[in-house]
Amino acid sequence: MRVFNFSPGPAVLPLEVLEQVRDELTDWQGRGMSVMEVGHRSKAFAACAAEAEADLRELLTIPAHYRVLFLQGGATAQFAAVPLNLTTTESVVDIVNTGHWSKKTLSEARHFCRVNVAADGASSNYNDVPAEDTWHLSRGAAYLHYTPNETIGGVEFPFVPRGAAPLVADMSSTILSRPIDINRFGLIYAGAQKNIGPAGLCVVIVREDLLGRARQETPTVLNYKLVADEASMLNTPPTFTWYVAGLVFKWLKRQGGVVRMGERNRAKAEKLYRAIDESDFYRNPVAPASRSWMNVPFTLARPELDKSFVSAAGEAGLVNLEGHRSVGGMRASLYNAMPPEGVDVLIEFMRDFARRNG
Ligand SMILES: *Cc1c(COP(=O)(O)O)cnc(C)c1O
Repeated sequence: MRVFNFSPGPAVLPLEVLEQVRDELTDWQGRGMSVMEVGHRSKAFAACAAEAEADLRELLTIPAHYRVLFLQGGATAQFAAVPLNLTTTESVVDIVNTGHWSKKTLSEARHFCRVNVAADGASSNYNDVPAEDTWHLSRGAAYLHYTPNETIGGVEFPFVPRGAAPLVADMSSTILSRPIDINRFGLIYAGAQKNIGPAGLCVVIVREDLLGRARQETPTVLNYKLVADEASMLNTPPTFTWYVAGLVFKWLKRQGGVVRMGERNRAKAEKLYRAIDESDFYRNPVAPASRSWMNVPFTLARPELDKSFVSAAGEAGLVNLEGHRSVGGMRASLYNAMPPEGVDVLIEFMRDFARRNG
């Protein structure tokens, strides 16, 4: 039996995709072997890889002067790869700190270059995005980095920042959740395990003029230019994850693409926030304009009820609702593959739980 899985990541995948993977697991394309057993340099896999890239380009309307890279090491490797590829030790980078993941970004960047924290959400306890007119940008910054969606805090930027420096975004938990204008960005990266596919892959979308600036000591597998020149097959890529990501892209196209997904995601999130706001029992601390569509943290009126909430939810087929260990409470992640019915069942369960325990 399938449950409604609200995990923040690795996260729910579309059932249709899992069924297709199952159906062709032992015999892919009539080859008598699994896609996992095919050489990454075979014609068959190269076609599969290229089709995934083409579908991603179509979904996000990625212009021709951007390269799409399929890397390993997750988003965390990019915390180092971005400064290695785009800075010298003398460079200054501007980083907006909106919580857990931006803190990881900036502490890693400090190993490589000078970091200016252009804005910090501390005064709102990281429950809001600092207003753009309060930011302190550096003249000549190598780039401006932000985290469009803070997966743990449930804080999402309601705008795309402006500035002279190339814009770099960690879109791990928000990519493909709605349309974006790629032209506004110098570089986007996203770990796969939230909205793209299984863990093991990190997608990088980079404007061509930013290639070829890597420091000499940059590890080859993190050097964007070298990886791009080899079509992300400089060494063995995570072939299975890449294949599943391709199936997810096809599924997204069948769903109506990111425009339709955006409408669906907005509706799912608004419904859940409304249910939280209308009750005295549940609470979400994030400023309404900065509330995430993807990750919805909430607390119960009495924290001692957390355990029984989680276990009763589990019995109702609603799993992985525990909040991050640093925050406590609950968090419902509503990625693309979470069907609207999952949110309806969760809201119904929450109302019932509040009635019984309020
Ligand atoms: C999950 C997540 C990461 C970490 O990704 P890894 O693939 O585990 O390195 C980084 N940034 C954001 C915004 C995330 O949601």
